[in-house]
Amino acid sequence: MKSEVLIIGAGLTGLLLAYRLKKHGIAVKVIEARNRIGGRIHTLQSENETPIEMGATWLSTEHHELLTLLEELELPVFEQFMEGIALFEPLSTAPPQQIQLPTNQQPSYRIQGGTASLIKKLAEFLTNEELTLNEKVTHIDYTNHFEVRSSLNTYYVNKVISTVPPMLLVNAVQFNPLLPKNVHDIANKTHTWMGDSIKFGISYKQPFWKENNYSGTVFSNVGPITELYDHSNVENTRFALKGFLQNGMYTHTKEQRKSKVLSQLQKLFGEKALEYLAYEEVVWKQELNTTIHSEKFIFPHQNNGHHYYQNGFFDNNFFIAGSETATRHGGYMEGAIQSAQSIYQKLI
Ligand SMILES: Cc1cc2nc3c(=O)[nH]c(=O)nc-3n(C[C@H](O)[C@H](O)[C@H](O)COP(=O)(O)OP(=O)(O)OC[C@H]3O[C@@H](n4cnc5c(N)ncnc54)[C@H](O)[C@@H]3O)c2cc1C
Repeated sequence: MKSEVLIIGAGLTGLLLAYRLKKHGIAVKVIEARNRIGGRIHTLQSENETPIEMGATWLSTEHHELLTLLEELELPVFEQFMEGIALFEPLSTAPPQQIQLPTNQQPSYRIQGGTASLIKKLAEFLTNEELTLNEKVTHIDYTNHFEVRSSLNTYYVNKVISTVPPMLLVNAVQFNPLLPKNVHDIANKTHTWMGDSIKFGISYKQPFWKENNYSGTVFSNVGPITELYDHSNVENTRFALKGFLQNGMYTHTKEQRKSKVLSQLQKLFGEKALEYLAYEEVVWKQELNTTIHSEKFIFPHQNNGHHYYQNGFFDNNFFIAGSETATRHGGYMEGAIQSAQSIYQKLI
């Protein structure tokens, strides 16, 4: 193959890096293990329902690089709906408390049309030859160039960039020669943001919760829903609620989780909660292209942006990129963008 740079992973880091390099005239090849682009950006969209984010959703005004990129790509944002009453469930034995949300808190924003709009816009710039799906990288061998083996092909290239979350990278890809031991050890203790979360979304014909001045926001110690938010679209024509479930719910089946979610929503918002259009969920712990089982407890964001990730390996020809390697906002979309921009600068 003729690509100068081989990029592993078509998440935000990989696609932005490919987009920037190609614009600069550098030939790229992006290899993606999943049957879709986006990685931890995963917007589900069926025709009659609102786009539901199974992965990254919110950004804030502190995410400068993301906001700049969205402006560059002409992708507008809108404010997360938070008006009205939030519900808080402190105990299973007590009724939910009603809380009037303060109006002066810093808002969160969502990308119009769904977070996947960002991913799609970057990918549109690449040809089918430059971006392949359903292809998993398994081996990286280095002599004076790389031999990269995937489930489909072998590539001979001079530069390789991994955007695979570091902990997964060092467990799922075999290196020859090995990466330095200290790097391998740190990667094994690098937290993958949201890697054990369970996200769900449920769509409705009408935003019935608003009839009682409920914002759709819920915080619960009771569960299985721990956090919930209104997830209607910007046009206010498609309606949904979306949130997180207790991580331990991964041991249940999807049907069991759905039934527990519906009972909790019924308790909180009444009978109309049962008249849903669609229930969607992703158990991220079971996403083998994001996480790997680890016995060790790793703190949120532990080792994100570690200084080991700021240098190249194998004569400066291999870089470990991705949101978790960013020195600021590691784990978030902002981190993914910073990582892509930083590698881009190193390569050009
Ligand atoms: C549930 C959830 C909620 C989130 N919410 C937010 C939020 O509200 N705001 C925010 O800013 N961020 C949020 N995030 C984090 C955000 O999604 C990530 O920071 C960002 O998407 C990471 O992008 P990335 O490209 O660095 O990594 P990834 O998206 O993980 O991309 C890595 C890619 O590599 C691929 N891959 C893995 N192994 C291989 C292999 N061997 N060969 C080839 N390809 C491989 C994967 O399939 C994947 O596509 C959330 C994440 C999740 C999961």
